[in-house]
Amino acid sequence: MRAQDVAFRNPNLLSMASSYAEATESKALFIGAHSEDFSGYPDCRPAFFDAFQNVIDVGTKPETEIELKSLFVEWSKTEIAERELELGVPYESTWSCYRGEEPACGACDACAFRLEAFRNAESRDPIAYVERPEFS
Ligand SMILES: [Zn+2]
Repeated sequence: MRAQDVAFRNPNLLSMASSYAEATESKALFIGAHSEDFSGYPDCRPAFFDAFQNVIDVGTKPETEIELKSLFVEWSKTEIAERELELGVPYESTWSCYRGEEPACGACDACAFRLEAFRNAESRDPIAYVERPEFS
C-alpha cells in the first residue's frame, strides 16, 4: 500500500474521533504521527494538526475543550520504538500494517517504518508478517 492509498486519512479519523470526544466530554485526542510520515503524508505534519485544532475549536460547542495531542510528531519511528522498548510496550498486542488482517504484510509504508525502527533499535518485532525483509 502506498501513501496515495491512504490520502487525506487523518482528517477523516480525527473527524470521527472529535465527534466521539465531544459526545463523551473527552478533553483530549491523541494521534501517533511521527516525523518520517511528513514526506508522503501531508496530514501528518505539525501544521496540519495545528489547523485541525482550529477545526475542533470552531466546530464544537463553545463549552467543549478538546486538545489535539500529537506527542510524537517530531520523533522518528526509531526513537519511538526505543522509548517503547524501554517502557516494555507489549508489541505483540500492537498493529501498524495498513492491511486489515493478520499477518501484517511487511511491505506497506507502516510495516516498513516499523520494521526499520526495530532493526535500528536492535530488537525484533514479535508480530507475524507475510514477508519480512532479511534485515529485520
Ligand atoms: Zn503492512
